[in-house]
Amino acid sequence: MMKNKKNYATFMFIPESQSTVKSFRMPIWFPRFVTVSIILLVLASTASFSILSSLKLQYAISKSEIGKLTVINSSQKVEIEKLQKNSEEVQKKLEENSRMLEEVKKAVGITPSATSKSTDSSPVSSDNSSSFSKLAAKPSSDLSANIEGIESDFASLAGKIASQKKEISESLGPIKNKLAYLMAKPSIMPVTASITAGFGYRKNPFTSRGSEFHKGIDFAASYGQTAVATGDGIVIFSGWNAGYGRMVIISHGYGLTTLYGHNSKLLVKQGDKVKKGQAITKVGSTGRSTGTHLHYEVKLNGKNVNPTKYFN
Ligand SMILES: [Zn+2]
Repeated sequence: MMKNKKNYATFMFIPESQSTVKSFRMPIWFPRFVTVSIILLVLASTASFSILSSLKLQYAISKSEIGKLTVINSSQKVEIEKLQKNSEEVQKKLEENSRMLEEVKKAVGITPSATSKSTDSSPVSSDNSSSFSKLAAKPSSDLSANIEGIESDFASLAGKIASQKKEISESLGPIKNKLAYLMAKPSIMPVTASITAGFGYRKNPFTSRGSEFHKGIDFAASYGQTAVATGDGIVIFSGWNAGYGRMVIISHGYGLTTLYGHNSKLLVKQGDKVKKGQAITKVGSTGRSTGTHLHYEVKLNGKNVNPTKYFN
């Protein structure tokens, strides 16, 4: 009992206003325990506070980082969209170029079969439009996928630009050649007048007996009317001929020559370069002629051919 009592302490509480005395009996170690507990509690709360404030700081930093990343991300999205638009525009221009080239070729009469291998633009347009639609289908949900798509788009565009460049440069030669031929070809009428005598056998206009081979066609042009070169070429003769009177002969290349006879006046001289439609003579009735008209011939490799076959 004595030993037990030693381990306890009694606290007495005497309020001044009251006569009653309150007493508390407690183990001797209790105050020490309470003190230690309070100290531990204070230490723990201090630690928690510092942890909490560091977490708060981290959170604030992360938040600002996320904000910055979001800004970067959205600007990248804008950039990617711009790139997509740009590559689509380049693709459109490539398709336009191909169409224009085809139109030019068609205009000068180059058949697609002649250069079809490099010319065939249809697979170019179809496979590309599909890859673009793929990108458009998932707009910016996966940036890395979009970037990959753009990279492959640009790679294929670069390839297409290179092949189109090759195609154009390969087509230039044939187009130029074809244009030169078209300009040289005696494709227009030398005068605006009706044809009074055609090409081939006809009754002799002088004797009215027997037949003769008419080497060209006659135009019922009026005296002094201007006759023009029917194609680009070089004047290889300009002067007097017993049969054709005042005569001009033009060489057009490609084995083609044209002859203009019975003129009253010659406007070009031998060696002159003439253009299609350029005035070369004034119509008359010189030489072996029955009246004012223009006699016009076309020769291919030295042989007379029907001039009307070359008119447009
Ligand atoms: Zn004639």
